[in-house]
Amino acid sequence: MSLSHGRSYLAIPGPSVIPDAVLRAMHRASPNIYEGELHDLTASIIPDLRKVAGTTGNVAIYIGNGHAAWEAALANVANPGDRVLVCATGRFGHGWADIAAGLGLEVEVMDFGQTMPVDAARVEERLRAKGAQAIKAVLVCHVDTSTGIKSDMGAIRAAMDAAGHDALLMADCIASLGCDDFRMDDWGVDVMVAACQKGLMTPAGISFVWFNERAAARRPARVSRYWDWGPRSNPEVYYQYFAGTAPTHHLYGLRAALDMINAEGLEAVIARHATLATALWAAFEAWGQAGPMRLNVADPAHRSHAVTSVGIGEGQGDALRHWCEHQAGLTLGIGLGREPTSAWFRVGHMGHVNAQMIMGVLGTIQAGLIATGVPYGQGALEAAARVLAEA
Ligand SMILES: *Cc1c(COP(=O)(O)O)cnc(C)c1O
Repeated sequence: MSLSHGRSYLAIPGPSVIPDAVLRAMHRASPNIYEGELHDLTASIIPDLRKVAGTTGNVAIYIGNGHAAWEAALANVANPGDRVLVCATGRFGHGWADIAAGLGLEVEVMDFGQTMPVDAARVEERLRAKGAQAIKAVLVCHVDTSTGIKSDMGAIRAAMDAAGHDALLMADCIASLGCDDFRMDDWGVDVMVAACQKGLMTPAGISFVWFNERAAARRPARVSRYWDWGPRSNPEVYYQYFAGTAPTHHLYGLRAALDMINAEGLEAVIARHATLATALWAAFEAWGQAGPMRLNVADPAHRSHAVTSVGIGEGQGDALRHWCEHQAGLTLGIGLGREPTSAWFRVGHMGHVNAQMIMGVLGTIQAGLIATGVPYGQGALEAAARVLAEA
């Protein structure tokens, strides 16, 4: 017998749960792409994308996933042979570094390990050291999705300023946008990339690059026509938004998702994620009192509110995930980028997630711990419920 039949919860850190309103908005015939409502809808999305990123700057939309946005961002600010400094706090920083290497950039990686955020003091030290003038951009994942680590972008900007260095600060907010507080302009981020399938609650397929005038002024000698963010962010004719056919249905879906964010209010969305994450962590801390479960990031200030990485005994991560998925309809994330993978799992709590879903995740994990024979401390569900009750 399986108890998994019924509405399932895909609690992996992207793609996230798609709201019914987004699905409904996408369930339609193709619109005219040459004139009419699609043009107005696209124009209406731009100010909302600015708002969610905390910027008055520019935004370009790409048909592609987060990897496309990684490449697009770099293609608009660097020539082959230029040096970039990647600050890695898990697997995704290395992924962006690899994209940079593929574009022919000189890539320098500072690896901050898998449990701590980017240390701004070390960045400052590097930017003051010999050879640092060649660095054209500093690349940071605001949240690394493999580790759940959140880095302080404002502190990194302050470190760059303190070093008197004029490199661009480029942030990957693919996991964090619409979940963790992010303020592009206030924090001095020059370029930011995100995709639609995480906090923005839309099926994977479009991604975004926000950039300020400082970044626009770094335009390299030659930019690929397709990646060029110029016409996309400032089109003279509609097709230039997408360098071709618009991602029609994704735009309807994204419009609906942004409407939901606007209706709740961005601050409330961010606060909801914070409270749900705090409830989740309270449960994991209680379970960890007697047993192998450990939150990957010790200091709550350095944890993302969108994704949580949990360590457990070797094999137990996989066993727990499989029990939850096949017996209860809850899909947890794999221990991506960890050794051994089977000793880790992740919970995605990004986007269209509420309190009863978090209690469902925790209650299911509780049952899974019993079923798989993993030892645990008492009081986890009580601790989570208390956070929710007192919020
Ligand atoms: C999901 C994610 C990516 C990759 O996005 P894709 O859409 O899978 O290409 C990159 N960076 C971070 C931080 C992510 O969470």
